[in-house]
Amino acid sequence: MDFSNKTILVTGAARGIGRAVAQAFAQRGGTVAVHYRTSGAEAQTLTRALPGQAHAAFRADVSDPAACEKLINEVVGRYGRLDVLVNNAGIYEVKPVKDLSYAAWQATWKNTLDANLVGPANLCFLAAKAMMQQKSGHIINISSRGAFRGEPDAPAYGAAKAGLNQLSQSLAWALAQYNIFVGVVAPGFVRTDMAAELLDGPQGEAIRAQSPLKRAATPEEIAEAVVRLAADGMLYATGCILDVNGASYLRS
Ligand code: NAP
Repeated sequence: MDFSNKTILVTGAARGIGRAVAQAFAQRGGTVAVHYRTSGAEAQTLTRALPGQAHAAFRADVSDPAACEKLINEVVGRYGRLDVLVNNAGIYEVKPVKDLSYAAWQATWKNTLDANLVGPANLCFLAAKAMMQQKSGHIINISSRGAFRGEPDAPAYGAAKAGLNQLSQSLAWALAQYNIFVGVVAPGFVRTDMAAELLDGPQGEAIRAQSPLKRAATPEEIAEAVVRLAADGMLYATGCILDVNGASYLRS
């Protein structure tokens, strides 16, 4: 897996899974556009630490359609191409129905869909336009086990990730004729800020026991799956959803 001369945009790359994905591509020769929203200092530190010279950090709120357009234009403007888009940025809001007013219910749906589904859809669209020009590209979307297993305390999150799965599969079909390949990685629990409260809380042991490996994934394990799915040897896997959940939820 050699990503030399390839430009990879990783959203939410300043921390968590995104940071590990950025590192994995850079270690294999890729030039990484390190996207961040609020974690500017972390993004700059990572950009300097990655092996290779041409990496750069880019700020955008993916919930904002105009910011998505600016981001893709900046990346393509700087590097002249975009070979891989990894839609990793996302939010997870614990919002059980029993605790919410109707207004709060609507707010969490809007926030979650904007960040986890509409934003990635906009970036897929904009990246696909650039990739169509160069007649090649990969898009990898980070979904979640929750799309299949359900998210009783975060139903908007589960719905957004299920939508992301279907968006990815439709795009895999639509874009193959342009030599653009679309895949999904669907993690179970991963040890990042997003999952820290649950993993470190009273439910932590029960969560780890969901997997026969008795632990959550590391961000590096998710990154390994992303890089493999973006490799040219995996073109025929376009449209696939790769579960990386430690056998904590099996579907067939
Ligand atoms: P994390 O540590 O909480 O990091 C979230 C990242 O998303 C941050 O880099 C953040 O950027 C970015 N982000 C959030 N909202 C954004 C917005 N509106 N615009 C731009 N960037 C935004 O989360 P993580 O665990 O690494 O999760 C990464 C992906 O994996 C997410 O899509 C998540 O749903 C998925 N996932 C995670 C788990 C898990 O257990 N951790 C399980 C399944 C799936 P800033 O810090 O710069 O604001």
